[in-house]
Amino acid sequence: RRPYSDEVRRAQAQSVASPGPTIFDKIITKEVKADIIYEDELCIAFNDVSPQAPVHFLVIPKRRIARLQDADSNDAELLGHLMLVARSLGAARAPAGWRLVVNNGRDGAQSVYHLHLHVLGGRQLGWPPG
Ligand code: IMP
Repeated sequence: RRPYSDEVRRAQAQSVASPGPTIFDKIITKEVKADIIYEDELCIAFNDVSPQAPVHFLVIPKRRIARLQDADSNDAELLGHLMLVARSLGAARAPAGWRLVVNNGRDGAQSVYHLHLHVLGGRQLGWPPG
């Protein structure tokens, strides 16, 4: 079995139920600085502080949903919007292709409990993921 990365260890240390505000709320309110690449009334996108590929940014809703698992049918429009924003930014920044990732919960190695879409590209990505 492969050793767990620091990222997985961080994710395992999080409580699945943690419902409170996260660092991403502070990025939304600009209390914490981030390299913001896109913003509109519903969402914000910024470069990941620990990039796993030449292109690695996150798209997050301004309204916090802890995990994708916590979304429901009322969130359909918002979820679709996040994907379309990821699509436009991904197409512009990694024209040769990119990958969308949503880590959900402990086994999914989610470490920040504010829904976020990872967009990764700028190199050939491997498969399967770890
Ligand atoms: P998760 O493992 O899917 O929850 O991903 C959380 C991501 O957020 C990781 O890729 C982190 O590198 C990233 N991250 C955590 N804090 C910050 C920050 O302050 N700015 C930008 N990215 C962050």
